[in-house]
Amino acid sequence: MVATMQAMTLARPGEPLRMTELPMPVPGEHDIVIRVLACGICRTDLHIIDGDLPPRVAGIVPGHEVVGRVVTAACRGGRFRIGDRVGIPWLGGTCGRCLYCMGHRENLCDTPVFTGYDRHGGFAQYASADERFCFALPDGYDDVHAAPLLCAGLIGYRAYRLCAVSGAMRLGLYGFGAVAQGQQVYAFTRAGDRQSQPFALHQANEAIAALRAGAINGAAVLLP
Ligand SMILES: [Zn+2]
Ligand SMILES: [Zn+2]
Repeated sequence: MVATMQAMTLARPGEPLRMTELPMPVPGEHDIVIRVLACGICRTDLHIIDGDLPPRVAGIVPGHEVVGRVVTAACRGGRFRIGDRVGIPWLGGTCGRCLYCMGHRENLCDTPVFTGYDRHGGFAQYASADERFCFALPDGYDDVHAAPLLCAGLIGYRAYRLCAVSGAMRLGLYGFGAVAQGQQVYAFTRAGDRQSQPFALHQANEAIAALRAGAINGAAVLLP
């Protein structure tokens, strides 16, 4: 009998995800299999589900902010052992041969493989991933808080690092939601966006509380 798992799959763009019984992931030679503990939802997941991004795999399992524990280690590799807690990000594989890959800029690879788009992602009980693109996760973050760092957090951190190199003092993160936190927090919302404004205020109030506790340097909110 083939072992199965439950997963949320996209039969056709524009339709709701459906709970589906799928075979357990069969790992490739560099792949680990993890039991999923948490998976964030990114705007890109919604673009895939809504069909804004053309479908590449019928019945895809979205989700690319995946936190889980290794249940099968890679047969060729050895970065992770059974029981390790790891994160699976959006970039799930690259060609290793193009100019970008050869120049250690594989995030720009000409033929990338994306988690939850080209291969099944984390809206499932189990997921497989190429361990060379996975992250070891520090204990300081619990599963739920670590998940969004694997896409939005990662991109924001990269932008932060690049700006820091150029000496920028203030960094604007647009559309990052709760991940956009830093030394100074400015929340921008659209005029009349009554749903986002209380959320932005809440985030800023948390930042102000952290400021009073001495954890950050400053906080401000701009509302139209
Ligand atoms: Zn994402
Ligand atoms: Zn490449």
